[in-house]
Amino acid sequence: MTNFQDLGLADPILKAVNTAGYRTPTPIQRDVIPAINAGKDVIGIAQTGTGKTASFVLPILNKIAGTRKKIWPKTCGALILTPTRELAQQIAEGIKTYSTFMKVSAPVIVGGVSSKPQIKACARGVDIIVATPGRLLDLIEADAIRLDQTFQVIADEADQMMDMGFLPAIRKIMQALPKKRQTVLLSATMPPKIRSLAKDFMYKPTEISVAPASKPIDRITQTVKRVEKAAKKAALLEILSDKDVSKTVVFTRTKHGANKLAVYLDKAGYPALAIHGNKSQSQREKSLASFRAGKTKILVATDIAARGIDIDDVSHVVNFELPNVAESYVHRIGRTARAGRNGIAISFCDPSEMEYLRDIEKLTGQSLLPGSPRETQKRRKPRPSGNSGKKKNSAALRKARANQKGKQPSKHKARKNQQKTRKPEGGMPNDGLMRTLGKSKPQSAAA
Ligand code: AMP
Repeated sequence: MTNFQDLGLADPILKAVNTAGYRTPTPIQRDVIPAINAGKDVIGIAQTGTGKTASFVLPILNKIAGTRKKIWPKTCGALILTPTRELAQQIAEGIKTYSTFMKVSAPVIVGGVSSKPQIKACARGVDIIVATPGRLLDLIEADAIRLDQTFQVIADEADQMMDMGFLPAIRKIMQALPKKRQTVLLSATMPPKIRSLAKDFMYKPTEISVAPASKPIDRITQTVKRVEKAAKKAALLEILSDKDVSKTVVFTRTKHGANKLAVYLDKAGYPALAIHGNKSQSQREKSLASFRAGKTKILVATDIAARGIDIDDVSHVVNFELPNVAESYVHRIGRTARAGRNGIAISFCDPSEMEYLRDIEKLTGQSLLPGSPRETQKRRKPRPSGNSGKKKNSAALRKARANQKGKQPSKHKARKNQQKTRKPEGGMPNDGLMRTLGKSKPQSAAA
């Protein structure tokens, strides 16, 4: 079994990791830390909950510990790009934890708050910047920071950054960096846009993959309830009235829907806060802090907010509306069953959402509704292993669905192609931190 001591980390870092209570590296840490330490470009396929933050923060700190050189004003040694403010904040907290026994400057550069303190923080030069792309570009344009001394760059949750339209900003940022640098790209999925980003901006990247995002961790009990749209609110109240429901994240597809639902729940005697991209940074932080502390038991969120919610004791996730992108389902329900706990995910599905449900079932390879085409087919014939079998199986599935609907197979080709390229890992358990912590199986390369 690999220990943190085997990963070539400096003493203050080992001490901090030990103080944080980590005993063994998670699989992503075991593979990514030595690769970054060796100066390689790395593509890491991993979702939150796998310990990916430490997998890139520890080697950055290691470099700082090993090469204490002068930092020039308005420059930074390492840059971490993230899609959301919450995630940036979370990474900054990770840096704080892992650098307890070092002196490291790592300001957070995000939108939604005044840029003045950020400009001031960068003035003397800093070790690490944790930034969302838009605000970072603003600061570059305002001549408050330059990236010509930045030799390590990490793009975290790259797929979400693409979804949020950050691709042009990321390309601009990459072009402002020195040609000779180390680039690390972390993503839960590997859509073609990220492949092309990697091709344009990375040098012979090493690919490392753990627990594919298409597989929810198996400590989550998943249920889908067929509920008519008009009956969803009552069904939600019924769930929330259960005494076993403590902290719950309820997902809606739209910001407006999240606001409306939070107001409705409040009126119904279930105080709730909405969290989404239209809320100011301070509102979002306040809501998360209140939820984390247990003052507010219900958070109504949209997908954009989902990945930033890293709170250990969320007992339930309710999908009030199913996401229209299947991968989001995996991210949403991953807000529960964190830090080794169990969790419950309940999804409402009205007739108009059946197509979304089928996409989710196809992605996760799980039948969520009894009697769904996937389950019927599974009972008839076990899924063969190997790629050709898989293709046949999905063709048959498409046909079965088309027959059932009395129409031609769906034309979502782009998404299908994307899903086809996702290779399941040989023998890798499809769960998160606790199970994977104890395992030390070799990881296959990403698809
Ligand atoms: P992340 O995937 O980076 O969001 O990490 C998920 C959670 O796992 C965080 O609460 C971390 O503190 C925790 N964690 C990360 N690495 C380890 C480890 N090696 N052992 C135990 N817990 C860890």
